[in-house]
Amino acid sequence: SIPLGYFGGIGAASRKGILFKGSNYLDLVTRLTTVVFDKTGTLTKGVFSVSKVENLEAADTDWMRLAAALEVKSNHPIARALVDYLGEDTYPVSELKEHAGLGLEGRVQGKMVLVGNKAFMERMHISGLSQLPAAQKTTIACAVDGLLCGFFALEDQVKNDAAEAFHELRQLGIADLIILSGDKPEVADRLGQTLSAKEAIGGLLPEEKLTYLEKLKRKPESVIAFVGDGINDAPALAASDVGIAMGGMGSDLAIDTADVVIQTDQPSRVPLAIRIGRTTRQIVW
Ligand code: ADP
Ligand code: MG
Repeated sequence: SIPLGYFGGIGAASRKGILFKGSNYLDLVTRLTTVVFDKTGTLTKGVFSVSKVENLEAADTDWMRLAAALEVKSNHPIARALVDYLGEDTYPVSELKEHAGLGLEGRVQGKMVLVGNKAFMERMHISGLSQLPAAQKTTIACAVDGLLCGFFALEDQVKNDAAEAFHELRQLGIADLIILSGDKPEVADRLGQTLSAKEAIGGLLPEEKLTYLEKLKRKPESVIAFVGDGINDAPALAASDVGIAMGGMGSDLAIDTADVVIQTDQPSRVPLAIRIGRTTRQIVW
């Protein structure tokens, strides 16, 4: 039978918007050695705004509207920002393909259109990528019929309590705080510096996030939490010892896959969950 103290702990957590899907996780969080965070939507608000647009020489004069045609089909936070900026009034699309962690591909007005990050453009053998800025901003490029046409620079905001979350986790003795992101490496780096993360790695595809987690798991005695908002990270949530999902705007799949759901979307709920676990353990044992 489950000791009464666990129900107290689970109840206390749920009043703070932290849903534990079992008393074993209340116990596991007290033994965490490592917390791995997704970036977009987890540590940042996931509400991008477009700060710059640039036309490149080869530009198809209609490239922005072609790009919008693909982005209206996507639910990614970047897609929402671009559609806000470009408008929804655009063309029909066929042969649409969403490449997780990279971008979108489709046929619009008889042209093959790509919208996505530099890694995506590389994979699709687009040339002239040195024209894309290396600045610490999310950069989304567009190519039409194989020619690079232009790019957008977008900015997201760090959540108000992200720094507090990192600070408290360190105070709880968890030194291995890691950020993994599909966004460009410079953007991940900058956030890593802001939060004094042990490591911040960008440019990762969903399966590469998984490979990284599996590598961490091989360290003896490591107990790993992955914290994500669910967009493209259900596999990482499933592979970690404790999968923690932001439940507010997270996907249903993430909420189903996670062991712990944070309904308030606040990263500072992670150290709070650990403190509640530790208090509960003192009562139970
Ligand atoms: P994160 O790991 O930061 O949460 P994702 O794995 O969801 O990010 O996405 C990684 C990157 O893939 C984005 O930063 C963007 O460059 C690109 N990307 C994903 N979806 C789209 C889209 N709909 N349009 C353009 N780029 C996209
Ligand atoms: Mg994400």
